[in-house]
Amino acid sequence: MRARQVVIATGPFQTPYIPALADRLDPLMLQLHSAEYRNPTQLPGDGRLLVVGSGNSGLQIAAELAATHPVTVAVGTRSTELPQRIAGRDLFFWLTRAGFFTAPSNSRIARRLRDRGDLVIGTRSRTLRRRGIDFRPRLTDVDGRTATFADGTTVDVEAVVWATGYRSDYAWLHVPGVVVDGAVRHTAGATDVPGLYFLGLPWQTCRGSALLGFVGADAAALSPRLADGAVLPAQVGHLGRQPATPAASPG
Ligand SMILES: Cc1cc2nc3c(=O)[nH]c(=O)nc-3n(C[C@H](O)[C@H](O)[C@H](O)COP(=O)(O)OP(=O)(O)OC[C@H]3O[C@@H](n4cnc5c(N)ncnc54)[C@H](O)[C@@H]3O)c2cc1C
Repeated sequence: MRARQVVIATGPFQTPYIPALADRLDPLMLQLHSAEYRNPTQLPGDGRLLVVGSGNSGLQIAAELAATHPVTVAVGTRSTELPQRIAGRDLFFWLTRAGFFTAPSNSRIARRLRDRGDLVIGTRSRTLRRRGIDFRPRLTDVDGRTATFADGTTVDVEAVVWATGYRSDYAWLHVPGVVVDGAVRHTAGATDVPGLYFLGLPWQTCRGSALLGFVGADAAALSPRLADGAVLPAQVGHLGRQPATPAASPG
């Protein structure tokens, strides 16, 4: 298909990320990424489960699993934890009011927020600890069924849930200079290539850029750029892979 303009809106959660050390786990052991996790019945028996990652997904999954299994959580990065509701209002109400979602990505406050990582909302590790969940620092090694953590402690586990996030995958996009070292080069979604845009990137213009309630502002800001009528240059040719040249038929 030929297009004069292209908006890439493939989302920030394209490829579930699992650290390479997962290869050293016992091959017979069950491991799931949080993207595949649905409920505790997916996990075996009543042996100890390891949840790697203590972001929103990791802590919510750990809380659910703790009803049926002993659970250890490996904490790679300690996030700021906030309650879902404050003074009778949802946290989003307060964060929106405080301009948390709309502060420009290059502002000082936004840079500080980015450095601190995502907020964990509605789950407190202190409460989970009281419910018997065992918290350890970053997972540094695994060998068979034994997990080793940054403080040198080890624990034997029956299965692992990787709540280690996602990575973007633009391997299909063959336009030089647009994705450099895995990061999209753009200004508010517009790339240096006329007619090629992105929408829904994390921090495209602000924290809200990859959230359902706020992405509309980025779309509205991009629409006049599209109306300008910039057209993909002919030499860009194929965004995706060139179709293979059909082999000459014998005879
Ligand atoms: C666990 C979790 C909880 C979340 N909770 C919230 C929340 O409470 N509130 C909130 O606002 N946001 C939440 N989000 C973020 C939310 O997912 C995004 O805001 C929203 O999905 C972004 O929409 P999108 O259309 O940009 O991307 P997506 O919904 O990711 O859609 C992208 C689409 O592009 C497709 N695609 C990818 N590559 C290609 C390709 N090469 N060709 C064709 N199609 C392709 C994908 O298959 C997908 O269908 C959450 C995300 C996660 C992972």
